[in-house]
Amino acid sequence: MEGGAFDGARAAELTAELRRSFDSGRTRSYEWRAAQLKGIARMIEEKEADIMAALHDDLAKPQMESFLHEISLAKASCTFALKELKRWMKPEKVPASITTFPSSAVILPEPLGIALIISAWNYPFFNLTHVGPTLMGKWNYVSEFRLLSIDPVIGAIAAGNAVALKPSEVSPATSSLFAKVLPTYVDNSCIKVVEGSISETTVLLEQKWDKIFYTGSKNVGRIVMVAAAKHLTPVTLELGGKSPVIVDSNVNIKVTAKRIAVGKWGSNNGQACIAPDYILTTKAFAKTLVDALKITLDKFYGKDPLESADLSRVVNDKHFSRLTNLLNDQNVSGTIIYGGQWDEKRLKIAPTLLLDVPHDTLIMDEEIFGPVLPIITFEKIEQCFDFIQSKEKPLAAYLFTKDKKLEEKFVQTVSAGGILINDTGLHFANPHLPFGGVGESGIGAYHGKFSFDTFSHKKAVLSRSFAGEASARYPPYTQQKQKI
Ligand code: NAD
Repeated sequence: MEGGAFDGARAAELTAELRRSFDSGRTRSYEWRAAQLKGIARMIEEKEADIMAALHDDLAKPQMESFLHEISLAKASCTFALKELKRWMKPEKVPASITTFPSSAVILPEPLGIALIISAWNYPFFNLTHVGPTLMGKWNYVSEFRLLSIDPVIGAIAAGNAVALKPSEVSPATSSLFAKVLPTYVDNSCIKVVEGSISETTVLLEQKWDKIFYTGSKNVGRIVMVAAAKHLTPVTLELGGKSPVIVDSNVNIKVTAKRIAVGKWGSNNGQACIAPDYILTTKAFAKTLVDALKITLDKFYGKDPLESADLSRVVNDKHFSRLTNLLNDQNVSGTIIYGGQWDEKRLKIAPTLLLDVPHDTLIMDEEIFGPVLPIITFEKIEQCFDFIQSKEKPLAAYLFTKDKKLEEKFVQTVSAGGILINDTGLHFANPHLPFGGVGESGIGAYHGKFSFDTFSHKKAVLSRSFAGEASARYPPYTQQKQKI
């Protein structure tokens, strides 16, 4: 969208245009959906260098991380949707019931209409979603990534909706790249990008949408839900939370340390919704774990991590002050056992480990969303479970153990958006699993077919012939009929 302030009148114009386009019926066809998905795939391929540059401007993101976590295979999300689309669109035949005999019944997925997608800044383009055979031919390791902004757009288009995307103003380079480039690859009367911050989002939220998909903090999630309630608009809220990691003593400690470290610092330097927020372990095992994490971090980022090109910076001054204030708390600063350095000019904070931070500190209350990792110890591993259960339900919960009974207990008793055993972050990577929160970490889910479902209404369709008349159904309800 170009020219002038984006106010209520422009928001109303935009929704009216989207609604006209949707009502014309053209977003419903397989051909339209497939053409838009192909356009997005082409955009990602042709604009890879610009995307890398924008991500570097916004986050000083290492190229490899941009490639692995954001760029490489958002195309794969399109490819996956394109491959599955015909199957997803098919009516699902369900059994007829004796009461309706003779009849046939199907569930027909239909587009909801016009969808608003509001996204967060931390993975402004893509997100890791799949580990498997490489699509690019270059890497054997991680091979499917999605855009945090574009991934829900892919779902909305696959489901046949018209869409407006509002990327985050906190990653301005990526947001403006989206606004400039996306409309040139897709049907611009049905797919729009609106740049802006609170005021633009507020006027967008005042409009009547058929679906709102929001990724971000829970406080704004509440604002979104209140706005949606006015029009009874369904919402998906992809929120955050404090994702815990339990480390048992029965583990491969080297692999454990590497997988925790890459999930925390190798992912936007901790600025990821499913990054480990804190570790829980036993007092007896803490030293082994801390030593292994220190060795791993030294190997990953060297003795002077602020100089490492492999660590993203903090996104802006506001988040930098928030994080350094958390560390400056007297009750916290004394618990730093590794790291703790920062460079205000370059907005860099080194990977930092804290041991046995008091539980009533702010850092143990709010989502850290940065490179600081507290380790909390208990006498017994079971107490770690109680600790998690005393908190709000997290977006992700991780357990490292070889003990199958402990694993079973974790899976059965810990409630979280998703659970991962013996790794971090990678559950996000399976497009056959739903990704979303529970309780305060979110409402609804997406990825793969779940994205399609999130933006679809499952319409119940029952079809009868004129045969099969049962007179008992119709008044007058004579005594004879009541005997049947
Ligand atoms: P945020 O809530 O500050 O911003 C998200 C979006 O909301 C932005 O587009 C912003 O413009 C808009 N916004 C901000 N304030 C608003 C207001 N008062 N009224 C209307 N709109 C407003 O979140 P963020 O800082 O961009 O992202 C960080 C949070 O997002 C963390 O909690 C993180 O865990 C969560 N997150 C979740 C996921 C997920 O998939 N579940 C992914 C990434 C981030």
